Amino acid sequence: MKLSSISKLGLVLIVLLIVNKYYVVIEAAPVTASSNKEAYVTLLYGDEFVLGVRVLGKSIRDTKTSREMVVLVSDGVSAYAKKLLQADGWIVTPISLLQNPNQVRPTRFWGVYTKLKIFNMTDYKKVVYLDADTIVVKNIDDLFKCGKFCANLKHSERLNSGVMVVEPSAELFNDMVSKVTTLYSYTGGDQGFLNTYYAGFESARVFNPEISAEVVNSKPVPEMERLSTLYNADVGLYMLANKWMVDEKELRVIHYTLGPLKPWDWWTSWLLKPVDVWQVIETSVLDAATIGIWLRNGRFWPLLPLQCLVFGMYSFVFKYFCDYSSLSPYLCDGFRGYSLKYGQHG
Ligand code: UDP
Ligand code: MN
Repeated sequence: MKLSSISKLGLVLIVLLIVNKYYVVIEAAPVTASSNKEAYVTLLYGDEFVLGVRVLGKSIRDTKTSREMVVLVSDGVSAYAKKLLQADGWIVTPISLLQNPNQVRPTRFWGVYTKLKIFNMTDYKKVVYLDADTIVVKNIDDLFKCGKFCANLKHSERLNSGVMVVEPSAELFNDMVSKVTTLYSYTGGDQGFLNTYYAGFESARVFNPEISAEVVNSKPVPEMERLSTLYNADVGLYMLANKWMVDEKELRVIHYTLGPLKPWDWWTSWLLKPVDVWQVIETSVLDAATIGIWLRNGRFWPLLPLQCLVFGMYSFVFKYFCDYSSLSPYLCDGFRGYSLKYGQHG
């Protein structure tokens, strides 16, 4: 049976429609799937901050969020650290280092311009970036409602780059990279650069997650918005008054930024009260791997004088016990042998 030309045309049209439909699906799938993704992101460009990332990860998981957790790692990070973070639930994403163009800067900022790579995470619709020296103490999923760029303004009327919400864009990232060597950075790090890049940030309106989607959608998305300090409460702020100068119950993110003092350095808990909160979470991730990190990072070395003192006192008490007691010949024999060898006994 011959098909009429109209039927043929109809058939061709149907085939074209089907092919076109699948073509669109095939083409669109990666874009749609990826552009709906949202993630918490942090940065690690050396093993020194790995414990920070572990504790941050645990704090995020404790908020029961469903968002992904991504850690951007550069070449300086060991395979040991990467494995550990993967086991903790982080998506470990290798990236190349973005050189810091500034000669004058704190030593630890040698790789910090790499943070700008969050603006290039175009697989994601939105990312909430958190420094490795932060912890989340209350769910912050509402930050994903932020428009294009959100950060908190600090005492100095400058944005702090420890907590940021970013809508990734290759165009934006390329523009930033093209300006890395020419824009001034007052910190010698990414934060100073971003303050010059986002000029006028201090006049940005405050981000309000309570505003309904209809109201938000009816207005043009602002280029930048300010976050409440609840999303980036730094320990420096606490030190000013020996208490949080915001509603403590509403605190969301604590940022341990006070120069090089970091919560994984054991002595900081003597100086900074908020370190207690960090250490409670650290205890919950305390395992052989954490102790391995302490040893690798030389965390025990500052304790050495204290350890020597305790050992000295122990030897003194033991010597006294052995000299004047006949109760434990077996215990003291070994000690006498040790002492005789070094000519201090008998
Ligand atoms: N960072 C890192 N290794 C380092 C120093 C910094 O991975 O040796 C990363 C880490 O995510 C850290 C961020 O860069 O949180 C910014 O550094 P830092 O938090 O020390 O800056 P601050 O908040 O004190 O200005
Ligand atoms: Mn920080």
